Amino acid sequence: MRGKDLTGKTYGFITVIRDSLQRATNRQKIWECSCKGTPKNPHQEKLVYIRTDNLERGLTKSCGCYKKELHTKHGHGVPGKNSLEYGSWKSMRGRCNNPNFSHHKYWADVDIYPEWDHAEGFPAFLEYVMEHLGPRPKGKTIDRIDRTKPYEPGNIRWANPAEQARNRSTTKLTEIKVQAIKNRLQDDATVHSRKHISRVYGVHFNTINDIFFGRTWKDVG
Ligand SMILES: [Zn+2]
Repeated sequence: MRGKDLTGKTYGFITVIRDSLQRATNRQKIWECSCKGTPKNPHQEKLVYIRTDNLERGLTKSCGCYKKELHTKHGHGVPGKNSLEYGSWKSMRGRCNNPNFSHHKYWADVDIYPEWDHAEGFPAFLEYVMEHLGPRPKGKTIDRIDRTKPYEPGNIRWANPAEQARNRSTTKLTEIKVQAIKNRLQDDATVHSRKHISRVYGVHFNTINDIFFGRTWKDVG
């Protein structure tokens, strides 16, 4: 037999039974494995076929039941689920990804670091936060240091509302953003609307007025 023999080895909740004799397109061996569930949720034996590299890199730890357990147990399997940091992670993702979030389209250009931005991204987010920012202080929320950049390592901090407002006021405007603001102003330029625009674009109210009254960015639009 060429290559490593993984027979009998265990990876997470999986035990390798035998070489299936099938090969993946990358010529890796495909192993017939058995999963009987997790200690919390055992199930009848299921056979799964997994590539050598996916086993060795720890990418596949179960037939899928373990991931499901993490998802559906509403946090009982996710450490830190009731923490303030979890709230931050959820609201960060909700803002950027939830089409039901009322200001979604204005957040469409805001990105999140891919490792944090999926259903199981919280542990990676938490690890980064604890190491670099420390626990979330009461009264502070997650904020981007540079608002033109995504939520990503090096660009997040805990900030209170005043700090966030200061940050907003220094947001760099781009032509594209100003164009979008002007379009919005054309639809509705009441004070209420201008305040709303200021909030969703993260631009100071005075700046919105400057744009509206043609004191700045005259060349755009
Ligand atoms: Zn399973």
